[in-house]
Order: sequence, then structure tokens, then C-alpha cells
Amino acid sequence: MTRLDDGAMRLRDGNSVWQTPSDSPRVRGRAEVLQTDIAIIGAGITGAFLAERLTRDGYRVVLLDRHAPASGSTAASTAMLLWELDSSLLELENRLGFEATAQISTACRKQVMAIGELASGLRIDCDFAFRPSLYLAGNKLDEADLREEHRLRARTGIDGVCLNEEALASWGFVGGNALLYPFSAEVDPVKLTRGLLAVAQSRGARIIWPATAMVYETLRDGVSIETREGDIIRAGKLLLANGYEMPEFVPGARHKIVSTWAFATPPRSVEPWRNSALVWEASDPYLYMRRTADGRVVVGGADEEGVDDTRRGSLTPAKMTELHAAAEGRFPRLRGAEAEFAWSGAFGQTEDSLPFIGPVPGKPDCLAAYGYGGNGITFSALAAELLAGILAGQTSPLARFCALDRA
Ligand SMILES: Cc1cc2nc3c(=O)[nH]c(=O)nc-3n(C[C@H](O)[C@H](O)[C@H](O)COP(=O)(O)OP(=O)(O)OC[C@H]3O[C@@H](n4cnc5c(N)ncnc54)[C@H](O)[C@@H]3O)c2cc1C
Repeated sequence: MTRLDDGAMRLRDGNSVWQTPSDSPRVRGRAEVLQTDIAIIGAGITGAFLAERLTRDGYRVVLLDRHAPASGSTAASTAMLLWELDSSLLELENRLGFEATAQISTACRKQVMAIGELASGLRIDCDFAFRPSLYLAGNKLDEADLREEHRLRARTGIDGVCLNEEALASWGFVGGNALLYPFSAEVDPVKLTRGLLAVAQSRGARIIWPATAMVYETLRDGVSIETREGDIIRAGKLLLANGYEMPEFVPGARHKIVSTWAFATPPRSVEPWRNSALVWEASDPYLYMRRTADGRVVVGGADEEGVDDTRRGSLTPAKMTELHAAAEGRFPRLRGAEAEFAWSGAFGQTEDSLPFIGPVPGKPDCLAAYGYGGNGITFSALAAELLAGILAGQTSPLARFCALDRA
């Protein structure tokens, strides 16, 4: 039996642009004793993709969350659905070689397409839209590196263009060159999560909250989970979609929690750039921007390691100044723009920019998905595909890149 420390961390501070000001606290019913095929801990975007996929595959599903669905990191997400990883393809090729790099980037492109198809097939109103991505040279990849990245992308079969400084200026951005590539997308992450959960519920999934999973026990034929509220769930399989609050028996090595900040301007207060491209800079600390469906500009980044969740909120004013200055430096039309929303959150990073998705070593019938870096939503969708495959006894060539115990 494993007891879980209920050290809930604050996954975000401040209201993001997607949230209604307050989700009223919920008074829940009596503790439940349930038997199910699959128990999922966490009703963020990962839990939602899993619940939709597994109810589609015919499983009985119970989801538990200590908070309201879609109110953890998912509510803080700026929800750029990039097929590009946090690492450039050049970095990935150095570590894993060309074949693996091509395979991984193709899989991520496929996932972005699949999210769009899923949302439209299920008629989920979530402001999903395909967007090009504009990758600006920065302190991690300079102009020459970016040209090299462009050549490597071409070798993997993706068509895009390299904009020189003059061409980039016509987009309203200054400094260096940039890569312009298709196949990324944007979404409202809260609407998408709630929509997927509603579909899963319509197929019989139970969502119980507040319900904090405290005790996990391996049984002869599955897993038992006890919640602080007194529920007992017996399941054939346990899927951990806890985001950045994984229980201690899930390997934490090579996974670090990073704090990150974002702000959003009022609607239509800044003259937009072309095609509502998703803009990100090859820099550390990270800088990125996107537009929302109602015409706000969202700017994010200024990531910092080692900031605990109690301190994160107090850093927000200084981080807003830092983000504003960095964003204006690349996109001068932001000068004087007001921040109507300012918020911060946590996300988990792995050393190799690849997520952890798969069986938890040493814990039979227990699988987990976490450690997505900035590509959280694309990797959450990949998690649903890979974990559904594992449950169905299939093997995927991608599984070894995402294994929790990979070398
Ligand atoms: C500011 C910010 C910007 C981001 N921008 C992007 C972006 O542009 N694009 C992108 O793809 N990704 C982005 N990300 C990352 C992305 O948001 C996350 O990877 C994703 O939301 C993680 O979803 P999740 O469902 O795994 O975790 P969460 O949304 O955190 O959900 C986990 C849930 O598990 C619950 N839980 C945890 N432990 C327990 C327990 N013991 N019992 C019961 N419930 C429990 C929590 O309450 C929570 O609701 C960003 C993140 C932040 C913070």
C-alpha cells in the first residue's frame, strides 16, 4: 500500500484569460464505493483526453480530482498547440539521431491535426484554429542555427520558409530571421477540457470532485484508490494524470518543475500581426505570443526554476515588466499595451524535452502521463493515444522515447 502525501501544490496564481472569475465551491455527495475498468486521477486536459478516448474504446471510466475539472495547469495554459518541441529539431537530432527526430516531429504534427479532428467531430466549441508558427532567432538559436534548423526540417519532409530580417519586419517583428511553418494550432484549453469531459460523461464516465486520491494499493487484479473524502475506487487500471503533483512512487528524476508567467491584453487593443501566427523565440528564458479568438494578445514566458508556489504570485509584477520589455523588443506594436489578465503557473520539464508516458516501473496496472514541458496539450493528446494502445496490448515505436524508465 502506498500512502500519498497530500501536499497539493498551487498549480497557478491569478485568473487566466480562459477562466470565469470564480468557479463556486462544490458541495459533494456521500463517499462512494465504485468498481470500474479505469480510474483516472486528474481532470485536466490529460485526464480529459484519456476519458474521451477510453470511453470511446468501451471502458468504464471514473475520474477523480481534488479540484474542479480544468482548474489546474490546464486553466493557466496559453494553449499554443505546437508540433515543434521545446528543443529544436537540431538538438533532438544531436541526442537521438535523424530517424527518431523525424518520427517524433511527425507524431507531434499528427497529434495537432488529431486534436482539431476530434474537437470538430465531437462538435466541441473550443475556438480551435490551425495557425502557422513563427519561430524567431534568439539566444539559443541564432540566425545561422535557424537556417540549419530549416534545412533539417526540410529533410524530415516538412515544408516551411525562412524569413530574413526584412521579410520578418513586414510581419511587425524586429531583429534576426525566423522560420514560418504550418500545422500548429490554438485552442481555448478550458473549453476543450470541459467539452471532452462532457462527451466522456455522456458515455457513462463518472467525474467525482472534490476527491483527493490519498492511498493507492495494488490488488491481485488491479488497483484500489482511497480518497480523503472516503471514496474507495477499485479499478482494473489506474491512470495518473495528476499533472505536476505525481505521487512519490512515480519517478521524479529528470523532471523539474518550472514557474512561468503570462499576460493578456484587452480585446483588439493591439494591431495584430499576420495570420495570427503562434510566435515563439529560440531563447532562454522563453518568450512567446499568440492571439485569442476575441483578439487579445497573450504573451508568456520568463520561466524560472526553483520558485516555489508560495513565492510565485509575489513575483508577478516584476515578471510582467520583464515580459512586457522582452515582447516589445521583438514586437514594438505592444508598446503601452495594458495587461488585463496576468497569471502564473507551473509546468514540468524533462531533460530531453520528451514527455513521460507509460507504465510506472514497479507498479503493476499503473500508468502515468506527465512532464510535457511547454508542449503540454500536444503531448496530452499523444498520451491518450499511447496509453490507449498499451491498454489494448499494442506496441508503438514512440513508446520507448516516452517511457518513464528510458535511459
Ligand atoms: C502559464 C502556462 C502556459 C502554458 N502554455 C502552454 C502552451 O501554450 N501550450 C501547451 O501545449 N502547453 C502549455 N502549458 C502546459 C500545459 O498547460 C500543461 O502541460 C497541461 O495543462 C497539463 O495538463 P494536465 O491535465 O496534465 O495537468 P493539470 O491541468 O494540472 O491537471 C491535473 C489535475 O490533477 C489533479 N490532482 C493532482 N493530484 C491529485 C490527487 N492526488 N487527487 C486528485 N486530484 C489530483 C489536480 O487537481 C489537477 O486538476 C502551459 C502551462 C502554463 C502553466
